[in-house]
Formats: sequence, structure tokens, C-alpha cells
Amino acid sequence: MRKVIIAGNWKMHKKRGEAKKLVSEILEGVTKRENVEMVICPPFTSLEEVGKTLEGSFIHLGAQNMFYEKEGAFTGEISPLMLRAVGCKYVIIGHSERRKYFCENNEMINKKFHAALEENLIPILCVGETLEERESGKEKEVVSKQVIEGLKGWEGERIVIAYEPVWAIGTGKTATPEIAEKMHSYIRKILNELAGNISGEISILYGGSVKPENVNQLMKEKDIDGALVGGASLQADSFLKIYNFLA
Ligand code: 13P
Repeated sequence: MRKVIIAGNWKMHKKRGEAKKLVSEILEGVTKRENVEMVICPPFTSLEEVGKTLEGSFIHLGAQNMFYEKEGAFTGEISPLMLRAVGCKYVIIGHSERRKYFCENNEMINKKFHAALEENLIPILCVGETLEERESGKEKEVVSKQVIEGLKGWEGERIVIAYEPVWAIGTGKTATPEIAEKMHSYIRKILNELAGNISGEISILYGGSVKPENVNQLMKEKDIDGALVGGASLQADSFLKIYNFLA
């Protein structure tokens, strides 16, 4: 049975002390659910602190990005080895904000994907179309290219996919459960072509304005296996409600 995952992407929010406070509040309020994993992805500067606070709990640590080399003269970058050393289990790869603001393309994302797997990090590969691409009927074409090129060379290791339509991120406009499910089942079909029957084991998360008010409806869809949450993961109360699929 594939895992349901609720992951919080804090993006560029929370200084060290604030991060510690938020993760402590989450820990205090959380009750583990059967087959629902929780992942928290703070900024790099808080990874170690948040990781220490989570030690011994069931909540996993994830990073928001990484470079594909192990070490070297790459000023400003963080390697998969460094992420492992602070206790990361997951790493987000190819978030649309990285594609947009930092010119990441599918080729670079594929290198990151393999570098993550090599260090036993589970990549959360983000894909999703822009509003313009959807309005011109190209959403499937764009997403399939991101999936196929992002996963090139994949041999069926454990990975996670996050479908995050760009028009739904931070806009308050969540994709309807029907729109999201349509794309999720399409992605599952591609995974099936790439890796055969293990595609049923791969969790496909939805991301884009997930809130306590809409999580329950989204989670009823058969190919939606969890959520990658931005804004609503910045407060313990709303993130815990989402973890519990409660409004
Ligand atoms: P929001 O939940 O703020 O729309 O962000 C979604 C996202 O980009 C998570 O990675």
C-alpha cells in the first residue's frame, strides 16, 4: 500500500528561533496516524535545529533543494551529503519556484534526482503547468515532459511526485479535486510506463493552496496520496488540521 504523506514546505520563512518554536508546537499537538507520514522542510539555516527537535519522533525532515555534486567549489550550494549529515530523509527537487527564479531545467533536475537517490535521500519531484500552459491546452504535455525528463534513468527506487499547478501556488486558487485527480491519474499512467507495476506504490502529492478547508475533499480522490503544503504549513494549528484531514 502506498504511503500518504503530508509535507510542509516552509519556503523562505522562519528564522532559527521561530523554526524551533513552530516545530515544537507541531510536536506538542500531533498524534501519529496510521499510514500518514509527516515531513517538514524548513530552510537550510534551520535544518539542524529542527532535525534535533524531531529526533525520536515519527516526523521526518526534508530539505527544499540541493546541488547535485557531493562537494567542491560551488559557492552557495548545499550537497546531498550535507543534507544526510543533518538528518534529512527527503529532499524537494524541481519546485516551480526554483524553475522560475533560478532557471532550473529538467536536465539539471534529473541530475539532482540521481544525486539524491545515490545518497539515499528520497526525492520529492515537483511538476506542474503554468496558467498560460493550461489555458492553451498544454498542461499534459508540460507535465509529462517534466516527469519523463526529471525521472530519466530511474530504476524504480522509492520516490515521491508532487503535482503543483503553478497557478494554484500561493494564490488561494486550489485545483478542484477533479482537476487534480485527472492529472494525478495521468502521472500514474506515465509512471506505469516508466517503471511498470511499482507505479502503484509511488505517492503522488498535490500542492497549491492546500488548506484545512479543502484537504478532506482532495484526499478522497484515488490518486491523491497527500499534500505538499506551503502557506498553511507555517502555523501549527493549520498544518495539524491538514495532517488530520480536518477543517
Ligand atoms: P501554497 O500552499 O502556499 O500554495 O504553496 C504550495 C507549494 O508551493 C508547496 O511546495
